[in-house]
Amino acid sequence: MSPIDSLTGTRFNLALTHSWAIATDVQSGRVAGKSEYPVVFVVLKDALGRSGLGEASPSSQYGETWETVLQFLRQIDASRLSFDDLSASRAYLESLPHPSMPARCAVDIALLDGAARAAGQPLHRFLGLEYPAAGALSSFTIGLDTPDRMEAKAREAARYPILKMKLGAPTDDANLAAVRRAAPGKLIRVDANAAWKTREEALERILALADDGNIEFVEQPMPPDAPEADALWLKERSPLPLVGDESYQDARDAEHCARCFHGVNVKLVKTGGVTAAKEALEAARMRGLKTMLGCMIESSVLISAAAHLASLTDWLDLDGNVLITNDPFEGVRNLDGRITFDGVPERFGLQTSGRAGSLGLSLGGI
Ligand SMILES: [Mg+2]
Repeated sequence: MSPIDSLTGTRFNLALTHSWAIATDVQSGRVAGKSEYPVVFVVLKDALGRSGLGEASPSSQYGETWETVLQFLRQIDASRLSFDDLSASRAYLESLPHPSMPARCAVDIALLDGAARAAGQPLHRFLGLEYPAAGALSSFTIGLDTPDRMEAKAREAARYPILKMKLGAPTDDANLAAVRRAAPGKLIRVDANAAWKTREEALERILALADDGNIEFVEQPMPPDAPEADALWLKERSPLPLVGDESYQDARDAEHCARCFHGVNVKLVKTGGVTAAKEALEAARMRGLKTMLGCMIESSVLISAAAHLASLTDWLDLDGNVLITNDPFEGVRNLDGRITFDGVPERFGLQTSGRAGSLGLSLGGI
């Protein structure tokens, strides 16, 4: 067994095509969006010359920043990790104090990338999964903005057959009307990001959304700490399927979410990697929940890692890498919303490779 002899973490600012905002960015009735999103790339190498690549996309929603990611990475003794013993490597990672889930996620992905490449397999096959032969359809997200700008974004997204729209602003009605001017009749998934504070407010909003006729589901209507009785009340009355996201951290929340929601949204950076995301998807399915794989603002490293789990999902929302302009990597392809590994040059592991020059990114030390 060859231990990892080098672990590097490098901060990189992903540049957003449009200012990005969700309900938690609404302050005093105004939307405060971001134009850059810092992520951390992790590279593991061993003495045999094998390497693995991972990514952490820290979200302030979960109290994470690129600094918390680097802090966690600095306490890792790389020699306790190996591409040859994934379960011992994971047990070591889980034993470390002050866990940072995005950081753990990055290391888990890098370990799997290296192990799958050493085995000469794409990651999905290494995990015992197939990839859907026809690819898998993902939504394209329209972040919160003014009605005019949301209309323009929806027009720009004409090639994507499914939109996901962020709600939770004072102008929600005008925003939906604006998106509908650009995309009448298109299937829309909505995400309130916990914006509606009471069950009555949530039901009123959901009933209004149901009148649209082409809303597929509503993600996280109420805060994750809302009383379970309120969530049950809402689920009983909602004409649209409800999907838990902030309420579904990982597989341990499956029982609770099976009672409160119709489906759950799993994200690699919430669960702490591909391994735990796979467990979270399987736990949800076992309890009859529909499953969705979502993302943060991410490069092709995290998006490709998630895509390898597509066969365990009903819905994909893997668009983080098409919302940015400076992705230093290429991996899984998004062809008008269809997510496919067809024609990707790298055949094994995550199936990602650096773009020529990688936009000045050198994966140095932490
Ligand atoms: Mg969400």
